[in-house]
Amino acid sequence: MRFFLMIALILSACSSVPRLDVGPVPVPTTAWLSAVDWPAAASETTAVLAGYLRTDTTNPPGRETAGALYLAELLKREGIASELLEFAPGRHSLLARLPGRGDAKPLCLVSHIDVVTAEAAKWPADRQPLSGVIADGALWGRGALDMKGMGALEVMTMIWLKRLQVPLRRDVVLLAVGDEEVDNLGMKDVISRHWARIGCSQSINEGGLGVRDAVFPGQTFYAVSVAEKGLLWLKMTAHGPSGHGSTPIPGRAPERLLRAIDKLAQRDVPTEVHPSLRISLAQTGWHGGGLTGWVLRHPALWSMLVVPKLLANPASKAALTNTVHVTGFAGGFAPNVVPSEVSATLDCRLLPGIKPRVFLEELQRIVDDPQVSFAILHEAEAAESPTEDPFYQAIVRHAQGSSPAAVAGPVLSVGFTDSLFLRQVGVHAYGLVPFAVPQALAATMHGEQERIPVAEIGVGLKILLGAVLDVSAQDAAIGGR
Ligand SMILES: [Zn+2]
Repeated sequence: MRFFLMIALILSACSSVPRLDVGPVPVPTTAWLSAVDWPAAASETTAVLAGYLRTDTTNPPGRETAGALYLAELLKREGIASELLEFAPGRHSLLARLPGRGDAKPLCLVSHIDVVTAEAAKWPADRQPLSGVIADGALWGRGALDMKGMGALEVMTMIWLKRLQVPLRRDVVLLAVGDEEVDNLGMKDVISRHWARIGCSQSINEGGLGVRDAVFPGQTFYAVSVAEKGLLWLKMTAHGPSGHGSTPIPGRAPERLLRAIDKLAQRDVPTEVHPSLRISLAQTGWHGGGLTGWVLRHPALWSMLVVPKLLANPASKAALTNTVHVTGFAGGFAPNVVPSEVSATLDCRLLPGIKPRVFLEELQRIVDDPQVSFAILHEAEAAESPTEDPFYQAIVRHAQGSSPAAVAGPVLSVGFTDSLFLRQVGVHAYGLVPFAVPQALAATMHGEQERIPVAEIGVGLKILLGAVLDVSAQDAAIGGR
């Protein structure tokens, strides 16, 4: 009894994270949404996505122009003009705009047109990567989730704003770019050559997804990406005298490289719970209830009860730590020759607030070997967007409103998307592909048998259109309806 009393006392001393209140759906949004025939809109969007999946935009080599033209044709039929932006010879992104009153800077609906390659042999013969067929209640094809599905929702959102003749407070811009999957050339081109005439203050793009049974069974968690880890890609090279393989002599390059890698693997890795995780776990806790829900709402208990679980899972561990991942080797393949140089490539991902150069100095200190040098291949600091933002809150509002099982919250993405470049020019960039899928299906992105449950397509459109209306429709619209 005394034990339970003590526990109760400790628990009552901890402060809980409050339930997030994003307020009700604004009246104009409700009015516009009720004007849509949702079953028809869902099947139309499904057909649009099927056609998009059949359009080969595999990168490499990048065949984005075909995808850009596919979207442009859909817009043209509705009387929406669009523009092809050539970001590399013969490769194009697409830009379209619905003009608004100019009360606020434009809102950008961002997607990438290209998809990664697929091993056709690992897909069923009747559901190939470029098939766009419906089977077992899902629409199949490379890009269904990453991210032609979202591209289809965005183009249909533009089309519905136009069809309903929604008076807009601000421009709504569709930005479908190429080359996200390889070198981000499409978005880099948009930022360097076209940003002056786009200039969005907020955007939605890929980043998070709705995941079923993520925290509680029966609960769907819509993860809205508000931040992405920074990156530092390094080539770590060990140097030493070359020589004959027959005689091991200490201090040779391969041995030094191994020692350096071992030191990096053994380093102390501090953990840090990003504020987004604090908010999201608490929201899932409020929604899920019970003892687990109670614990999740009390961060003071996490170091004991939650963080160890998160660290046991490589995916959540990556969101709590600065990671150093050896991803390749180069140099020295003759068995009897000791090379004077061998190197390893390191993919380091850094939490917000960690400067890549400072992190590199730390790695150099840990390795502590003047015969091991580091070259920076690429670096970018982590970037974040605030959760105190009307568009972020609108996304959460409509994701949570999509079903009683739904809860939404912010997350830190461990990878990066084109939103990285948008945040660098001051955009509040949010990442959510508003489809709710089981974890196993989420894993088909970049993998085999990528598909989207057909039932999710209409739900996703309603979430996106609702969120866009919340921050773009004029209040005056109520009177007109
Ligand atoms: Zn993607």
